[in-house]
Amino acid sequence: MITILLATQNPYKIKEIQAVLPAGIAASGIDDLVKNELEETGTTLEENALQKARKIFQLTGNPTLSDDSGLEVVELNNAPGVYSARYAGPQKDDQANNAKLLQELRSEVTRHARFRTVLAFIDETGEYLFEGIVNGVIALELRGSNGFGYDPLFIPDGETHTFAQMSGDEKNRLSHRSRAVKAWAQWMASRNQ
Ligand code: IMP
Repeated sequence: MITILLATQNPYKIKEIQAVLPAGIAASGIDDLVKNELEETGTTLEENALQKARKIFQLTGNPTLSDDSGLEVVELNNAPGVYSARYAGPQKDDQANNAKLLQELRSEVTRHARFRTVLAFIDETGEYLFEGIVNGVIALELRGSNGFGYDPLFIPDGETHTFAQMSGDEKNRLSHRSRAVKAWAQWMASRNQ
């Protein structure tokens, strides 16, 4: 069994990643390893994912996986993107972020978007990046109460419900995060053959 550390302080991300790990890989959170919020001062998801994974790998020497994700809305020139968590301000308030998104899109009839996750994996052999994407549209109003962030506004292509109206399993079947984890897990399996 390989145990990796998840360089995130977001309990939803931990739960979603743990739910799609293949047999033979276990993942744990970082509990109180760092006192403050893990820094993400980059201008891309890739930079932020690497920044978080490097911090935890340097502290522990343990193989580490981090997740940086964002919502990219076509009609808003791919905003909020890397700034998704802080869209409505530094307080990182999901409700305020969703309200701002609806406000910005109020006169848009088409509202195409995608969620994108970048995972950074670091172990003694190097640094590796993996990506997962799900395309969809932004709903006209908030729907559902599961999940976090923009889940109540995001309807994946081919679906009628938002992520927040889906069970954890349903979201994991489709999500950017599960797709990125699967890409990483496949790579882990192939290099261990
Ligand atoms: P990060 O911690 O910098 O990756 O912040 C990601 C932000 O993007 C979160 O705070 C959410 O606002 C948004 N986000 C990322 N993944 C998801 C998701 O699966 N559902 C809803 N919102 C998400």
